[in-house]
Amino acid sequence: MSSQPKLRILLTRAEIEAGIDKLAAEIRRDYLGKNPILICILKGSFIFTADLIRRLNFPLEVDFVQLSSYGGSRESSGKIKVVQRLRSPVEGRHVVVVDDIVDTGLTVAFLLDYLRKKKPASLRLCALTDKPSRRQVSVTIDYLGFTVPDVFIVGYGLDCDEDLRYLPDICVLED
Ligand code: 5GP
Ligand code: MG
Repeated sequence: MSSQPKLRILLTRAEIEAGIDKLAAEIRRDYLGKNPILICILKGSFIFTADLIRRLNFPLEVDFVQLSSYGGSRESSGKIKVVQRLRSPVEGRHVVVVDDIVDTGLTVAFLLDYLRKKKPASLRLCALTDKPSRRQVSVTIDYLGFTVPDVFIVGYGLDCDEDLRYLPDICVLED
């Protein structure tokens, strides 16, 4: 970013950590001994996934898929592109999709449909944040960290035009 962004903290790093502790406890309870595959949606979920799996601390696999709906702007185009495909076969496996934010829901609904066709043993969604006010398709979030208002958030992996992912807190980017 060329000019100084105006940021307001929405979730502090301590709040995020407490939220991930709670999510990890729920996922541990449900998946311990099942060797699940956690699918991290790049790029926004990479920090969340890294923190989550270290708290899970049991046998699991991680894979990555990169989808794009936003391009460079802040509005969803509604068209989902697969930028990087999944490598792991998921048939018969317990799959948990890990997402940074469910906004319109279009991106994750696309991925869940795609995965369901590959016949996993089970398929659930874990999202760090949810912006339900913007939803366009119905999505069930099985493990949710935080509900956020209709604002544009950055930090903790979430970007604005590829910048600001490094912020340790989740902040509102104010115009
Ligand atoms: P959806 O398809 O649900 O509208 O959102 C797709 C993706 O858009 C999210 O996974 C996320 O990468 C991005 N996105 C949606 N809302 C926000 C936001 O408030 N901040 C940032 N940085 N990205 C967002
Ligand atoms: Mg995302």
